Amino acid sequence: MRDSFGRNIDYLRVSVTDRCNLRCLYCMPDGVKLKKRPEILSLEELVHICRAAVSCGVKKIKVSGGEPLLRRGLCAFIAALKNEAGADEVTLTTNGVLLEEHLPSLAKAGLNAVNVSLDALNPQIFIKTTGLGAAAGSAGFNNETLNRVVSAIFRAAGMGLNVKINCVPIEGLNESEIIPLSLLAEKTAVAVRFIELMPLGRASFYRGIPAKKVLQIINEACGPLTAFTGKLGNGPASYYSAPFWKGVIGVIPAMSRGFCETCNRLRLSADGVLSSCLSSGENVSLREELRKKPEGFGPEKEAAVKKIIQDVIYNKKAFNDFSPVYNGEKAENRKDKLMWKIGG
Ligand code: SAM
Ligand code: SF4
Repeated sequence: MRDSFGRNIDYLRVSVTDRCNLRCLYCMPDGVKLKKRPEILSLEELVHICRAAVSCGVKKIKVSGGEPLLRRGLCAFIAALKNEAGADEVTLTTNGVLLEEHLPSLAKAGLNAVNVSLDALNPQIFIKTTGLGAAAGSAGFNNETLNRVVSAIFRAAGMGLNVKINCVPIEGLNESEIIPLSLLAEKTAVAVRFIELMPLGRASFYRGIPAKKVLQIINEACGPLTAFTGKLGNGPASYYSAPFWKGVIGVIPAMSRGFCETCNRLRLSADGVLSSCLSSGENVSLREELRKKPEGFGPEKEAAVKKIIQDVIYNKKAFNDFSPVYNGEKAENRKDKLMWKIGG
């Protein structure tokens, strides 16, 4: 379905949990208040919403979190998104810690691609960026965590799965990791992408490195980079190839360039809040509608959920704005737009 600005909204990001086994410095603080179990939608409820979204024109669904692989039943959920909800394409975004053991079941479920978030290959920087140092203390344990993520990336690529590695480069934290991470694309057919930090929650304490500077750093060390024009993914990334590399480099200039004019996405949080933009304070909950009496998901309820989805699509804003006051909404009203809550 098209929104009021003519954009085709065909991509839904679904968060299946607000829990996470990492505490990335710019994302999820320690001691956050998590939703209570009954507030979180069951996987069955999420499938109902996704089916309604597909009937509104959504074709691609990204499963995210928190850490989605912490949610029991995830592989069956992914299969249901394809077989019952009717999504053409289902992909997963994960921190990779629990990925390797799930890969065979994920592939069997029909997963089309996996994005692994990885901000550093250097163990000390990995421990720092993921908050593991403070939480676990033991360097041995944490090195093992990093090894598991890297091993999962190679195994997924080896299985022929479409793999993207996502890094958020931050000044004074992991800039030294831009080249080592980029080099993962030299011998392996993966896309290594650098995402500009968005000022949501605690991320506003850090300064992201702009895409242009990231490209300059990679170009100087590994170039010349040339624009890659093939089709890769559904998002706003620009891709580049380096001479003789099997994989590609991508940048997502979320802040410096923005991509609102071609934005095709909606987001659903694990407790059923549907949102059309990260920077707006709209909070449309589908949970109440879903849980109305009578129980079940009959045609009337389906029509009501579909109507809410259509309204959210229609009212999608023209562009994002992370300033303290936006369209009369105070940043305070947008405090729930945090990546670990809404799925990044
Ligand atoms: N836990 C999973 C993971 O890390 O991939 C899925 C959820 S996480 C919120 C999804 C993505 O959002 C990660 O790649 C993370 O780096 C990114 N992210 C979190 N906060 C961000 C911010 N403020 N700006 C840009 N990206 C952010
Ligand atoms: Fe967890 Fe992902 Fe946020 Fe890191 S980025 S704290 S792994 S939700």
